[in-house]
Amino acid sequence: MQPVTRLYTQFIPHHYDIHWDLTKAKEDRLISGTVTISGEQKDTANIRLHAHELDVHSVSVNGVDVADFTLDADADELVIPHHTPGQVTLAVDFSLTLTDAMHGLYPCYFVYDGIRQELYATQFESHHAREAFPCIDEPEAKATFSVSITHDTKHVALSNMPVATTDARDHATLTTFDVTPKMSSYLVAFVVGNIHKKSGRTKRGIEVNIWASPAQHANTLDFALESATKIIDFYEEYFGVNYPLAKCDHVALPDFSSGAMENWGLITYREVCLLADPKTTGPAGKHLIASVVAHELAHQWFGNLVTMEWWDYLWLNESFADFVEHIAVDALYPEWETWLDFILSRGIAALRRDAIEGVQPVQVTVKHPDEISTLFDGAIVYGKGARLMKMLRAFVGEEAFRAGLKEYFSTYAYGNTKGDDLWACLSKASGKDVGVFMNTWITQPGYPVVSVTPDGISQTQFFIGQHAESTKIWPVPLGAVPAGNVPEIMYDKELAVAIEPNQRFNSGDNGHFVTQYTPEHLKTLLSQIHSASTVDRLTLLNDQTLLVRGRYESSASLIDLLSYYEGETNDAVWDIMAMTLGELKKFVETDNAAEQKLRALSARIARSNFERLGFEPVKGEPVTDTKLRGTILGMMLYGEDATVIDGMMARFDIATLADLPAEIRSLVIATVVRYTDDNAVIDQLMDTYQNTPSAELKEDIMAAMTSTRDPEVAARLLADCKNAEIVRPQDVSPWFVYLVRNRFTRTVAWDWLRGSWDWVLATYGGDKSFDEFPRYAASGLMTEEQLAEYKAFFEPMLDNPTLTRTITMGISEISARLALLAEDGEAVREKLRDLDD
Ligand SMILES: [Zn+2]
Repeated sequence: MQPVTRLYTQFIPHHYDIHWDLTKAKEDRLISGTVTISGEQKDTANIRLHAHELDVHSVSVNGVDVADFTLDADADELVIPHHTPGQVTLAVDFSLTLTDAMHGLYPCYFVYDGIRQELYATQFESHHAREAFPCIDEPEAKATFSVSITHDTKHVALSNMPVATTDARDHATLTTFDVTPKMSSYLVAFVVGNIHKKSGRTKRGIEVNIWASPAQHANTLDFALESATKIIDFYEEYFGVNYPLAKCDHVALPDFSSGAMENWGLITYREVCLLADPKTTGPAGKHLIASVVAHELAHQWFGNLVTMEWWDYLWLNESFADFVEHIAVDALYPEWETWLDFILSRGIAALRRDAIEGVQPVQVTVKHPDEISTLFDGAIVYGKGARLMKMLRAFVGEEAFRAGLKEYFSTYAYGNTKGDDLWACLSKASGKDVGVFMNTWITQPGYPVVSVTPDGISQTQFFIGQHAESTKIWPVPLGAVPAGNVPEIMYDKELAVAIEPNQRFNSGDNGHFVTQYTPEHLKTLLSQIHSASTVDRLTLLNDQTLLVRGRYESSASLIDLLSYYEGETNDAVWDIMAMTLGELKKFVETDNAAEQKLRALSARIARSNFERLGFEPVKGEPVTDTKLRGTILGMMLYGEDATVIDGMMARFDIATLADLPAEIRSLVIATVVRYTDDNAVIDQLMDTYQNTPSAELKEDIMAAMTSTRDPEVAARLLADCKNAEIVRPQDVSPWFVYLVRNRFTRTVAWDWLRGSWDWVLATYGGDKSFDEFPRYAASGLMTEEQLAEYKAFFEPMLDNPTLTRTITMGISEISARLALLAEDGEAVREKLRDLDD
């Protein structure tokens, strides 16, 4: 692929004056605008600005009209013939047509008082500002922005900065905002529409507002307001650098492609990531909200105040925000044990994906803008990157970590950086060579398996699935407990050192690797498992599931492993136990006797906790018990326990779904979906799904409906997915992924994806979420025939840069699963069949 020239090398923008007129948005789908850009032309070539699907009506340079400008659609450029280097002022009149794609400038829809209404919002990351105004759309091209908007007088208008003036005339109002500090184009934002708010102030007096459409009750704004205010206070203290703007708005948008977007001073969210209903939202929902708010607020420093120089360094934004959000949440809400969740959410995803050949490193060279969207691989730039930052903090120590960050923010405020700039600040603060330790981890894909024998340790690259020989090694922070004679970091491939029989590695989960012990060593650790820390209990079990996927251990060994964990009470460890059991489900799909034994095993190991916890929360119980109850009841349901099935059925009432405890709501609905033959219930549920304003209730219904065992119901649900009035486009991919992983509906879902590809392309092409569909399909397919179909369908798309890596890795992933099924299947089934009842 041809690298694209950085326009910033030819023209440096200093200030933008942008005006958008939204008064014809609703009737004519037309938005007109003007932009005046002052900046410096560096050479005698043409001036080139980014512009994508904009109609340009007139251009002037230094007040003189230029008639012979051109639009280069392939390069996304507006080309202006002007050849005199120096200071220039450009003025462009343009317009654009509003479409439903959730990037650039787009409409969101909601129903209030029986009337369908629109609001207008922006989503410019990564390179979509060019869809809303001509600009140098590169992160390094920082400038100041004066934004003004003409809009319906009944509407609220928000942008990055506070309102400077408003001028109301007839039905239209001109709102002008304060000038921004120097910032990148991808962070410019506005929201205009009928929205309401709750406000608070931080200790220093920063105004914090939480906004939503009127379809959302005012009390759903309270929890986010409390979190957002406290988190700004926390970061100001933790980073030692103040939040740089005078206000911070947080807006829940009814249509939003990703989870949230960190626009400076105007953060946008999908509703489920910001709004907590005091009645229906449980601890897991609140934990999610606080985490997303903490993530986006971290970006106000990492990303907004100091910005990556180019997309290669996206990890400077995302890996840090994903790590730091846990520091904030742990400080404010210690009862949620967020570092355990860190292993469940970031650790598992990162370790699984990073083991597949062809995976991207955390730092990727980006030549063409179309490659940018492929960078946002959640498991790598977020998950692995965050794990590496945790490893880094353990390496330099907490005090040096904070001192280094403070220096970094102070030195590079309003500027751009590369990874080495951060390493330099942390090296100075810690006296350690951070670059030597970190660069291998950041630039090299994959991670090692550390093999432990009585007289030494060795490392080799860990793989799941087919791969070429690898000689890669890493500087591995061994985390040995007790420390014995083992060094802190292993730089070599092999190390001769006496190992103690009960020594654990990667204790505290500060390293990105898996450990393989000898069978005797593992047995010793398992026999003492209840005296290990919660993190270590969790990582030991997770490592074993990875070693099984990588064929270092047999799948049947997982059955014995689970017996060591009976009596466990921590909810996060139980999540891994349920997942470990889930690893075995794929082997029994076609063997009824073995499947019945696996179901019985599930109910057996969950039973004592079910008897302890029952169906419903007890006032005053620990949050961890509340969260554990969902997992335990889920395992009892998989075990087809009659008491639990009856108990769930008895709790179902279509009129009061929102009143059910959050942790069991989707299980109650799922039980009815699975065991009822009354089709009217399906209609009622879809009706509730379509009409409830609660994003959380929608998610619970989705999770439940996709567990149907009826392919006809699945086909109907998938048909609804293409009707935006029933399932919003932002919500479709989870419906698909659950149905393609459900063995009863897999074929229907897989056929649907291939049959709907034109629709997928039209709806999501150009969006960050586009590659989710081939990725999710690969996570569910199970047979040689499906692998052949996957190849036949997706291989012709390999030359599409947004899909290349996902398709290649998808083929590896399915192939690895098939090999595992073929080689381990019979042993697993035999072992299950031999289990006592
Ligand atoms: Zn982020």
